[in-house]
Amino acid sequence: MLAKSHIISTMIVLTPLSIYVEQDEVLIFLIAGVIGALFPDLDEKGSFLSRRVYFISKFISIFTEHRGWTHTLIIVLIYIIIGAIFLKYNETTQYANTLLAFVVGNIIHMIGDLSTRSGLQILYPFKKKQYYILPRGMRIVTNSKVEIYILIPFMATVLLMEIFLVYKEILQGII
Ligand SMILES: [Zn+2]
Repeated sequence: MLAKSHIISTMIVLTPLSIYVEQDEVLIFLIAGVIGALFPDLDEKGSFLSRRVYFISKFISIFTEHRGWTHTLIIVLIYIIIGAIFLKYNETTQYANTLLAFVVGNIIHMIGDLSTRSGLQILYPFKKKQYYILPRGMRIVTNSKVEIYILIPFMATVLLMEIFLVYKEILQGII
């Protein structure tokens, strides 16, 4: 899936959750979500985030092929465990929210890739099997017309409606 699709789908999940975040912490919450949404593709040299943090991406790609361990349930579990350890020393809601948004971004990214024709080895290294969440004929091809002209505009519309509903009062104050 394209970076845009990963970002928009993550924002669809995080926008309603942002109601529970302190107003001055919402921006960090959403940025952590965007980083989480792009993070798994650091194993792909040409991806949106990789081109911006080339050395980190190069380092990660030594250990994994594309859609390798940055796209597994075990790595999400590792993020949560490391995050929880840090949380013990830094018990702020802002830190917990940032971690939550990052993890949600990673999970939504994986759900997106699981909807594609390539699928994911989500249980790697325990099971080297490709998993999919859509029936064969409905799987999305990355960068296809379906993704660009149907999926992205559809998700963007849903997101705009959500933003309008969630931030109605703030938006009315501006307009
Ligand atoms: Zn991916």
